[in-house]
Amino acid sequence: MPKPPTRMGHCHLCGGFGKLSFEHVPPESAFNNQKVVTPDAKKVFELRDLDQLKNLTGKQSQRGQGGYTLCERCNSLTGHWYGSNYAAWAYQGADYLRRSNGCKTQLAYPYHLLPLRVIKQIACMFFSVNSPQFREAHPELERFALNKEAKHLPPHIRIYVGYLWSDRSRAAGVTGSMQLDKTSGVTRMRVYSEISFPPFSYILSLNSAAPEHDMLDITFFGNYGYDEFATLQLPIPMLSIYTPFPGDFRDRETVLQQSQS
Ligand SMILES: [Zn+2]
Repeated sequence: MPKPPTRMGHCHLCGGFGKLSFEHVPPESAFNNQKVVTPDAKKVFELRDLDQLKNLTGKQSQRGQGGYTLCERCNSLTGHWYGSNYAAWAYQGADYLRRSNGCKTQLAYPYHLLPLRVIKQIACMFFSVNSPQFREAHPELERFALNKEAKHLPPHIRIYVGYLWSDRSRAAGVTGSMQLDKTSGVTRMRVYSEISFPPFSYILSLNSAAPEHDMLDITFFGNYGYDEFATLQLPIPMLSIYTPFPGDFRDRETVLQQSQS
């Protein structure tokens, strides 16, 4: 088999300079082995009609979603420590999502998982979708991801999950949003990063209020031990994506309806 191509650069996880290998986000074993299309952001802003979003073409990746972000050592170590347990979690989620058939009624399904390994893989994915500077800003998160036994996410970081009922995917490095609560007049500032790829959307929030859309806070996955198995009833809300804007989980009907009012 031909060796996969490599590029030189700084690893987003350990910061070392060297050969980078292609890191799938999410892991290849979690349904991420198909051709994906990332719409060109410039074309998105030029759209006159939001309903044209479905016709957008863009950059194609034949090998799944991801990029040259991790050194070979980080890629293989984290894949070995967390990859298969993450895939098991994604398979259970995909099965529940299929059974729900997009129904918005929230059901708590039982998950059998190693919670610490799942949340560490999710943390690694956030390093990949962010620039190499993300690790400089969050050294405690780097330690959490690179020390397989380390427990507890840093106190300023929370991770949320929702089911993603959509044929679209989306990833965004750290971004900010302001939301004005019309009744109280209070402005909420949120700083977060997002990874959406069926069956799940994740928000990593930094020193911020909970996401605008209802999501389940799974920060507590970080409190388990590396070999600690759990069965958890998880009431994960259903989300959808239509626009390319991070944090916007409105479905197509809601977006079109609100753009007309
Ligand atoms: Zn590395």
